[in-house]
Amino acid sequence: MSEQTRVLIVGAGLSGLSTAVFLGLHGTPSLVVERHESTSTHPKARGQQQHTMEALRLAGLEAAFTAASPKSQGFLLRIAESASGPVYREILHDTFLRLDHLTPAGSADVSQANAERILVDQARELGAEIRFATKLESFEQDESGVRALLSDVATGEQTTVRAQYLVAADGHRSPIRDQLEIGTHGRGTLGHGIQWLVRADLSSVVGDRQVMYYLQNPLLSGGTGVLASTDDPDRFVVGVGYDPQREGLADFTEQRSLEQIRLVTGVPELAVEILLADTTVSSMRIADRFSSGRVHLVGDAAHTMPPQGGMGGNTALMDGFYLAWKLAAVIRGEAGPGLLDSHDVERRPVAELIAENQYKNAIVRNMPHLAKPDDTPPIEDPGLLFFGYRHGGAIVREAGDDGELLEDPAQPTGRPGSRAPHVPLSTPDGELSTIDIFGRGFVLLTGSEAWAKNAEDVADNLRIRLRPYLIGGAVTGDWTGPYGVSADGAVLVRPDRFIAWRSKGAGTAVELEKALRTVLDR
Ligand SMILES: Cc1cc2nc3c(=O)[nH]c(=O)nc-3n(C[C@H](O)[C@H](O)[C@H](O)COP(=O)(O)OP(=O)(O)OC[C@H]3O[C@@H](n4cnc5c(N)ncnc54)[C@H](O)[C@@H]3O)c2cc1C
Repeated sequence: MSEQTRVLIVGAGLSGLSTAVFLGLHGTPSLVVERHESTSTHPKARGQQQHTMEALRLAGLEAAFTAASPKSQGFLLRIAESASGPVYREILHDTFLRLDHLTPAGSADVSQANAERILVDQARELGAEIRFATKLESFEQDESGVRALLSDVATGEQTTVRAQYLVAADGHRSPIRDQLEIGTHGRGTLGHGIQWLVRADLSSVVGDRQVMYYLQNPLLSGGTGVLASTDDPDRFVVGVGYDPQREGLADFTEQRSLEQIRLVTGVPELAVEILLADTTVSSMRIADRFSSGRVHLVGDAAHTMPPQGGMGGNTALMDGFYLAWKLAAVIRGEAGPGLLDSHDVERRPVAELIAENQYKNAIVRNMPHLAKPDDTPPIEDPGLLFFGYRHGGAIVREAGDDGELLEDPAQPTGRPGSRAPHVPLSTPDGELSTIDIFGRGFVLLTGSEAWAKNAEDVADNLRIRLRPYLIGGAVTGDWTGPYGVSADGAVLVRPDRFIAWRSKGAGTAVELEKALRTVLDR
C-alpha cells in the first residue's frame, strides 16, 4: 500500500506533536507516526515556561494547559541534603515565576504525559493524522521528496508513504539522525541514575506546593538525588545516581530502593509504594546539523540536555513552533527551499546555549564532582533564557549588528533577529499585547498609513500572508521605543514573533519587498 502526505513526522513526543499542531495552524496537514501504542505514560518533563505558553496561546491551548496544571499554593526549587533539609540554597521559594513585563503569557506546570494528550487532541483538530503503534522502518530521499517505509507494530503490515518533508522527532537515540550519518557534539554522558515513580504522602514535607529538590548527600547512591512533584499530589519522581560499571537496576532491591527513597525525602519511616523503576542517563549532545536535505531534526533528536533548568521539554516543543511556519511557507510556495536552511542556522546555536546552561546548572545543583576551576556560572535570569535568544537565519541583518546570540529582553533594541517585544496596546476591543497580533503570517507593525498600504501591495505582489497592523488613531501604545523606530517607521515580524527587518523611518514598498524576498528565499 502506498500513500502521500505533505509532512511525515516520526515521533509523537512534545517536539513531533507541536510540529503537527503548528503545521495545522498554518494550514498544512501532516502524518505523525509513533511506535508506541499511546503517548507517554510517565510524567517525564514537567512545566511550560512563558515562551512556550506564548506559543501554546497562539495554538488556542493556554486555557487547557492552565486548567491541567496542579492547583498548588507555591513552588519550591531548592538545593538541599534531603527534602526535609538542611537547605543549601533556595532558588525559588513559594514563587511561581512571573514575567509580566515581558509577556502576557503565564506559565503552566503540566507533566509531559498530560501535555502530550492535549497536543494530540489539538493536532487532530487542526487536521493532523496521528497513527500510534506505527514504526518508521527506513526512508530515502530524492530531489522532490522522501519515501518512507512504515510498519504496523501489531501486525507487521508495511506501508510506503511519500512525503514532501520528513521531521525527525524520534528522540535522543534518533534512528533517523543515525541513518543520515549526522554526528553529535557536546559534553557527552554526565551521569547515570535510578529513577522511581512513587506514591507517598509527603504533605508534611512539601505542604500544598509543587517541588523540585536537587540533593547532595554522600549517603545517597552516587552522592546525588532529586525529588520532583507530578500532576498528582501523592505521586513523586525520585532519583539517585549509580555507577553502571559496578551495578544495575536489579541491584536496587526493594529494601535498598526504599532506603534511598526515604533518604531523599528525609522521612525515615515513610510509607512508599513504588510504581515504576528505571535507569536514566543524563547527557548533553547536540546534533552536528539539524537538517539534511528534506529531513529536519527537532527535540531530543537534535539536542539532549541534562534536565536541570527544565528547558529540555520546552525547547523540544518550541522547535516545532519555529520549524512549522517555515515548512508551511515552503510547501505553499510562498517561500523558496532556502528558508528551511535557517532551521539549522537558527536553532542549533540556541540549543547549544541552552544545553550548555543546563550542564552548568547540573554542576551547581547536584553534580558538583563535574566542576572545573575555569567554569563560569549558569545564566539564571529566566527572562534572558526564554526571550533573549536571537535568530540569525531568515532575517535581514542590519549594519553594525555583530549577531550576538543574546539580548536582554527587558532592554529591547528591535534589531532584526530579536524577539518582537511585548508592548501593551489599547484598542477599541480592549487591552491587547503586541504578542497577540503576531503568529499566523507576517505582520508589518507601523504607525504610518503609507507603510500599511505598502504592506498590502507587497502581499498582493508576492502572494504571501502579510498584513499591516497600524498603531495610531484608535489603537495606541508606546511601541516605537522598544522596536527602535520612529512613528513613520515599520517593523516586519515573522510568524514566530521574531523581527525579520525594519525601516526606522518612512520607506517604500520596494524596500519591503526586497526584505521579504531575502527572508523567504524568493
Ligand atoms: C523518565 C524521564 C524523565 C524526564 N524528565 C525531564 C525533566 O524533568 N525535565 C526535562 O526538561 N526533560 C526531562 N526529560 C527529557 C524530556 O522528556 C525530553 O526532552 C522530551 O521528551 C523530548 O521530546 P521529543 O519529542 O523530542 O522526544 P521524545 O519524547 O523522546 O519522543 C520521541 C518519540 O519518538 C518515537 N520513536 C522513536 N523512533 C521511532 C520510530 N522509528 N518510529 C516511530 N516512532 C519512533 C518514540 O517512541 C518517542 O515516543 C525526561 C525524560 C525521561 C525519559
